[in-house]
Formats: sequence, C-alpha cells, structure tokens
Amino acid sequence: MTDNDTKLLCLIGDPVEHSLSPVMHSAIFEKLDLDCFYLVLRVEREWLEASVKGLKALDCLGFNVTIPHKVAIVEHLDEVSEEASTIGAVNTVKNEDGILKGFNTDGTGAIKALEEKTKIKGKRAILVGAGGAARAIAFHLALEGAGKLVIANRTVEKAQALASEVKDMTGIETDACALKEDELKKIISESEILVNATSVGMHPDVDKTPIPKTLLHPGLVVMDIVYNPLETPLLREAKNVGAKTVDGAAMLVHQGAESLKIWLSIEPPLEVMRKAVLEVLEK
Ligand code: NAP
Repeated sequence: MTDNDTKLLCLIGDPVEHSLSPVMHSAIFEKLDLDCFYLVLRVEREWLEASVKGLKALDCLGFNVTIPHKVAIVEHLDEVSEEASTIGAVNTVKNEDGILKGFNTDGTGAIKALEEKTKIKGKRAILVGAGGAARAIAFHLALEGAGKLVIANRTVEKAQALASEVKDMTGIETDACALKEDELKKIISESEILVNATSVGMHPDVDKTPIPKTLLHPGLVVMDIVYNPLETPLLREAKNVGAKTVDGAAMLVHQGAESLKIWLSIEPPLEVMRKAVLEVLEK
C-alpha cells in the first residue's frame, strides 16, 4: 500500500521483464515495514538521459541500472564512487537532495557470496568472462588480496586487457587465456577459486557449461553468477567432483542488499531476500 510519503525506488534497463529485483526488495519492505515501493521501468537507450532527469525531477530516492545502461549511465550522474569509476559501470544510483550518486555493488555482492564458502586472501583464482560483471568481480578479487588472478574469455583480447588493467591498478599477479581446454587445464589444476561470469549456462541454454567437467577438482570453490537456472551444469558437475559451490542467487542477494544499504542505511535480512528469489526461480 502506498501513501503520500512512500519512497520510490526502481530499476531501469531493457529488457527488465524477468528481473528478480522487485520481489527481492519488496520482501524486505514488507518484512521491515518500510514505506517504499520498487518499480521496474523498461528504458530504451535513446530515452536514458530523459528518464534519469525524470527520476530526479520526481524525487525518486534511488534506482538500479541494468543492461544495456550500466556504462552509459555514468555521464548522466552528478557523482560516481571511486569503485564504480574504476570498474567503469554503475548498477546503483542514490538521489541525495537532487545530487545523483552512482555506485557499483556487483563486485562486493560477488565477494560476499564467495566469502560464505572461502577466504579470498592469498588464493589463486580463475575468472571466466571479461564482460561487465566480470570486470567488477576481477577488481574485487584483486582488492581482496587474491594470490593470483587468471582471466579466461572467449575473446582472449578482452581477457588480456582486463588482466593488465587489474594488474596496473592493484599490483597483483594476473594472467589471461582463451576459453580452450588445453589452455585451461594447467591453470584450473593450480586454482582454488573458479568463478563463471559469462552467460554460458543461462536459460534457455541450460545444458551448456564454459568449463569441461574433466578439469574440475575437489580443491576448488566454484561460483557461477548465472542464477537462472539456480543449479547450472557447471555447479552440478563441480558438486559431483566434491568441490564447494556458490550459486548466482547468492551474488544477486548480496548485491541487492548492498543497494538497500546505500539507499536506506539498513542491514537487510539476507535470508528474506533469498527466500523471495528462490520462490520465483523454483517455480
Ligand atoms: P556481458 O557484459 O554481456 O558479458 C558476457 C560475457 O559472457 C563475456 O565474457 C562473453 O564473452 C561471455 N560469453 C557470452 N556468450 C558466450 C559463449 N557462447 N561462449 C563463451 N563465452 C560467452 O554480460 P554481464 O553483464 O557481464 O553478465 C554475464 C552473466 O552474469 C549474465 O548471465 C548475467 O545474467 C549474470 N549476472 C549475474 C549477476 C548476479 O547477481 N548473480 C549480476 C550480474 C550479471 P566475449 O567477451 O567473448 O563476448
């Protein structure tokens, strides 16, 4: 139920139809009895600037930003956090008395999800993917003190560019390789953390995996940021060899919780958010 004091939060992106953010955030508003409403708005590229101005004019408290606007939004904001500026993408905006401030909670969300199963400091990690989400995760793995970070990507040039950017910015040892079995074999055998940040395995391609199962081993913690389906072939095969696993819903919940902290200065109960997400995913 909304009233004259209800605070407006929303998601802008295109497409947005399948977003789980509304159920996740609404569950928290209900649980904590917060007078807030979370709306999903499909915004096409050409309407981004006008939409951002509109949200500011309407005194919207904050919004999430998703594909394809995470990079383009930056030039329409008044301020951008150091973290989001390093990553080059914003997924959370807060309106502070008419000043729009941009943040990125993807990296923190991924790290908090991983830390449910493993420490990161000193660990050798392989990150699969070099797109938007992978960029956020790469910088955060490095900032958390990963012992070494190898980035593997279908387009190897993007992996190389990201690996050298992360090395220049954080000083950690990095390397890059193609998404090919012969190149991955030795690297994965020496790794303790493997994160899939590609869209391989995502609905409707639910039988695909970016990593051949023969390369997985019990010494790995395997995280897949794909959350639809919840158990991807990568996670299933990792479990089968005795590796620990972290699903994409864990990152989704943590990055959403970080957004709520920014907007409302609250510590949202994570289990409420996860339950709301799983209810939709398991349907
Ligand atoms: P993106 O910027 O478009 O990057 C896509 C990545 O996937 C690139 O590295 C791309 O490789 C790779 N890729 C795509 N199709 C591939 C294929 N057939 N074979 C091998 N590699 C392929 O997308 P994004 O925003 O980073 O999102 C990636 C995935 O993460 C999506 O499934 C998204 O839903 C998920 N995600 C989850 C969360 C969460 O909270 N759990 C948050 C953000 C994103 P190339 O560079 O070679 O094209």
